[in-house]
Amino acid sequence: MARLIDGKAVALRIKTQAAAEVEKLRQRGIIPGLAVIIVGDDPASRVYVNNKKKDCAEVGIYSEEHALPADTDLNRLLALVESLNNRDDISGILCQLPLPKGLAADEVISAIAPNKDVDAFHPSNVGKIMLGDYQFLPCTPAGVMELLKESGTEIAGKDCVVIGRSNIVGKPMAMLLMQADGTVTICHSKTKSLAEVTRRADILIAAIGRAKFITADMIKPGATVIDVGMNRLDGKLCGDVDFEAAEKVAGAITPVPGGVGPMTRAMLMQNTVTAAKIQSGILK
Ligand code: NAP
Repeated sequence: MARLIDGKAVALRIKTQAAAEVEKLRQRGIIPGLAVIIVGDDPASRVYVNNKKKDCAEVGIYSEEHALPADTDLNRLLALVESLNNRDDISGILCQLPLPKGLAADEVISAIAPNKDVDAFHPSNVGKIMLGDYQFLPCTPAGVMELLKESGTEIAGKDCVVIGRSNIVGKPMAMLLMQADGTVTICHSKTKSLAEVTRRADILIAAIGRAKFITADMIKPGATVIDVGMNRLDGKLCGDVDFEAAEKVAGAITPVPGGVGPMTRAMLMQNTVTAAKIQSGILK
């Protein structure tokens, strides 16, 4: 039976560390602040934004929400980002995605000052990640790396398979694993013989968005399996991995919920603290 990788426990540790850092900054008169922009009324986005505000309150980070109607035009959104870029009390800016149709997310992300880009989606931060010289990492892949470390999974020299090639999960995930000396294969919807590829993985990362897509026969016995997926099946949250069957084959595995999700939230807190340090000159 696989060892369970407890994302909730690791996330709590990271948030506790972030809270201690915030306390130290406060003693120097620095209060980290996160501005979250939400456009429209997507229910999932609303839940994510509420969670972020809750996390900020727990960690001691000032937060403010900018909720705009779905018919907001791009210029108004860009003006808001610009005003937040110019505020000293705002360390980090985040625009909750997806944006309503007609609003170009890439234009909004590119308008965020790179040193306030706590999602690490700005092209300049993406480039820095490619170069291996970065201040911010995107929260989900960064959270996965922490889980691998915490679970004692060795990456160097191991076969790592990432399923999914999105800009926010799959691509940066693969890059981080490669930088940690893993031998990385990226799979996607056009990959042939997917199961043959995944069965070679010592570390398997599923970031697909299809409930229970990864079945036990796709997993190498003893592999570490990280399930990034968040899907609804019969009203219940579930991952991309068929957990009940997979845990009989894997060596270590993350559950959904309670795996990668809490880590994504915790890493945002860490990034916001980093942003506050950069802006106050503590970090270069
Ligand atoms: P996305 O942008 O939709 O990307 C999904 C990827 O999966 C694409 O690269 C796609 O391939 C690939 N894919 C789809 N069907 C496939 C198949 N049959 N075989 C192999 N690959 C296939 O999604 P995302 O934003 O990366 O998110 C992925 C999942 O992670 C979602 O469930 C999302 O909700 C979840 N998520 C969770 C967290 C968290 O904190 N836990 C954070 C972010 C995302 P193509 O490129 O060829 O289309």
